[in-house]
Amino acid sequence: MNQPQIQIPLDLPNVSVEKYEQTDKGLVITVVSTRDTAVCRHCGRTIDKFHGYDKAITLRHLPIFDRPVWIRIRPKRFQCPYCDKGPTTTQRCEWYDPKSPHTKAYENWILRELVNSTLSDVSLKRHLSIGCIEGILDRHIQRQVDWSTVPDLELIGIDEIALKKGHKDFVVIVSGLTAQREKYLLAVLPDRKKETVKAFLKTLPPRQCQSIRRVCIDMNEGYCNAAQETLPNAQVVVDRFHVAKHYRDCADKARKAEMKQLKQTLPESEYAQLKGAMWAFRKPWNRLTEEQQIVLLSLFRQAPVLKEVYVQREVLTGLFEQNLTKAQAEQALTQWLDRITELGLDCFTSFVTTLNNWRDHITNYFIRRETSGFVEGLNNKIKVIKRRCYGIYNLSRLFQHIWLDVQGRRTLFAEH
Ligand SMILES: [Zn+2]
Repeated sequence: MNQPQIQIPLDLPNVSVEKYEQTDKGLVITVVSTRDTAVCRHCGRTIDKFHGYDKAITLRHLPIFDRPVWIRIRPKRFQCPYCDKGPTTTQRCEWYDPKSPHTKAYENWILRELVNSTLSDVSLKRHLSIGCIEGILDRHIQRQVDWSTVPDLELIGIDEIALKKGHKDFVVIVSGLTAQREKYLLAVLPDRKKETVKAFLKTLPPRQCQSIRRVCIDMNEGYCNAAQETLPNAQVVVDRFHVAKHYRDCADKARKAEMKQLKQTLPESEYAQLKGAMWAFRKPWNRLTEEQQIVLLSLFRQAPVLKEVYVQREVLTGLFEQNLTKAQAEQALTQWLDRITELGLDCFTSFVTTLNNWRDHITNYFIRRETSGFVEGLNNKIKVIKRRCYGIYNLSRLFQHIWLDVQGRRTLFAEH
């Protein structure tokens, strides 16, 4: 068949192409190294006495037009004239790792494919076994933090995720943020115990202990103490989204209780008019459609206390939105607490206790107002990874996956 032909550069340094042939497993390109030296594995000197060729190896390379490509090479061997008994050394080429059955270009491509994807998806799409992909992950991505690659951090976040829905099987994610707002994954810890978190924080290199200024956490005594005992320069900040979750849950409980009551007391047709009230109640007023506003107003007519609950919940959210100083925030929170007492809104009682216990750390948020998006963004990412990688309970694998999504994007795509 007479097909039009094109030429593509091979992009492998220091090789010449000897031949290429179509086989049933794909295109096999045989190359020869054009470099005439090696580094003696004993003395480390550069040697150039050619000794012969090793057995041919075949490495998987980047596909061309959706066809598998293999690079075949017979590595050169050189003999050392300086060492005793003249040992021989196989020449190393920069484009492949002797321990890998793939070229480096191919492995980097697979790693980029793995960003925001799963092992099984990539395995299926690229006709590559899970074992092969795990090998690639292990060759390129550390299973725990490599501190030499992490610049000085300003902030760390300690956060937990449940591995299985409804289970008490939590892992703790420790992440870091630099002054330039770059995110780093630092650890995936097996449990939420203070001692576990503290043991990890103790492994931080001294320069990091010095540079970290803030530790962003959920309201967890253990994390708080672990941070305060190991990072003397850091201020503990309670993430505002965790605070919000708490008081929003309080409001929602009140809504639930009132609606349950109404269901028993209202005629069916009247209760039916409250359809959709749950969703409407959860949203701020200006994000509601006109119909939702009408539903919410009928709910407030039937259960006036919910109007107060709703308004006070929104007042609190508004408070966190404002550009207050820590002192102003303290004052505003006191006013809010007074108002809650005045109105007798019992539903917020558990939140009031929390607020009193954590007040200082909660209002630390107002000093920099920067923590929420960082932890929350990472959390959402991890939730997605969990959904995609259902069944990853191996912590170092989980570390590799989160690393790929958090840092891999930056590292792997920057080279490109
Ligand atoms: Zn030598």
